[in-house]
Amino acid sequence: MLPGIKTVGIVGAGQMGQGIAHVCATAGFDVRILDISEDALKKAKDIIGKNMERAVTRGRMSEDVKAAALNRISMNTATDSLADCQLVIEAATENEEVKKQIFARVCPVLSKEAILASNTSSISITRLAAQTDRPSRFIGLHFMNPAPLMELIEIIRGIATAPDVFDHIREFAQTLGKTPVSAEDFPAFIVNRILLPMINEAVYTLYEGVGSVVAIDTAMKLGAHHPMGPLELADFIGLDTCLSVMQVLHEGLADSKYRPCPLLVKYVEAGWLGRKSGRGFYDYSGETPVPTR
Ligand code: NAD
Repeated sequence: MLPGIKTVGIVGAGQMGQGIAHVCATAGFDVRILDISEDALKKAKDIIGKNMERAVTRGRMSEDVKAAALNRISMNTATDSLADCQLVIEAATENEEVKKQIFARVCPVLSKEAILASNTSSISITRLAAQTDRPSRFIGLHFMNPAPLMELIEIIRGIATAPDVFDHIREFAQTLGKTPVSAEDFPAFIVNRILLPMINEAVYTLYEGVGSVVAIDTAMKLGAHHPMGPLELADFIGLDTCLSVMQVLHEGLADSKYRPCPLLVKYVEAGWLGRKSGRGFYDYSGETPVPTR
């Protein structure tokens, strides 16, 4: 366990918050999850339990480790539940205004020394840091999805991030069993700067009628050896998150090559957000996903 960090707060009980909680609790940290939605917290508890059970079944985790890890996680709607955390990881909806409001609520309950990290996929760490009372103790800590399985964590230093905070967080990432990669504070950092334009291009390919959902996903799986097709992956990430990353790239780099595909915009406007809403490029209401186009 890392000296100094014992208790980790996680804001947002969505798919990333669940995965980050799973990873931190398994590594021996006490975890406090905070969400505004009781329903999201209930679902998160259920999903974390099921995911750990699956890890036990597959021989990746012992029954004892699972029981101890689940015991270390608490679910909360009250902000002061984060008061004794040495590190808080914000993993709420990818929307700058939402994150800003969270920092305004969370910062006053934290100790001065506590480190605040954001799991944002794309928003400027320097700009988020400037909206808090602790820019030197603010950092980007970008887990990949699904967090328990993916080996990488991107660490993004804002202009004001103190060097010791960067070192501490890099060590924290290693304690979680992950490989940290340092990325500069440019829109969408490294992985999403490369991945999301590819997904957006796949949506254009569908929009222009070049191929069907199945043709596009099959082509990239068998033709480029991608483990998931780009549209399947978009549904897995969440189409709202995909759109938000493209908007940040488009605005932040002022280059028309990052223009979000109008079909992606329409799907998000319709509330078709992918797996999490039951429908995206595939329909998830039955036993197996059915392509929608
Ligand atoms: P999600 O939609 O699954 O979950 C977001 C959660 O935030 C919800 O439970 C919601 O109730 C909660 N929330 C919203 N406002 C809140 C508030 N004011 N206080 C507390 N909780 C609040 O989203 P996600 O996919 O888990 O993404 C979360 C973050 O992680 C985003 O910044 C996203 O860009 C980033 N991220 C996502 C992925 C991915 O593949 N989905 C990968 C890496 C990073």
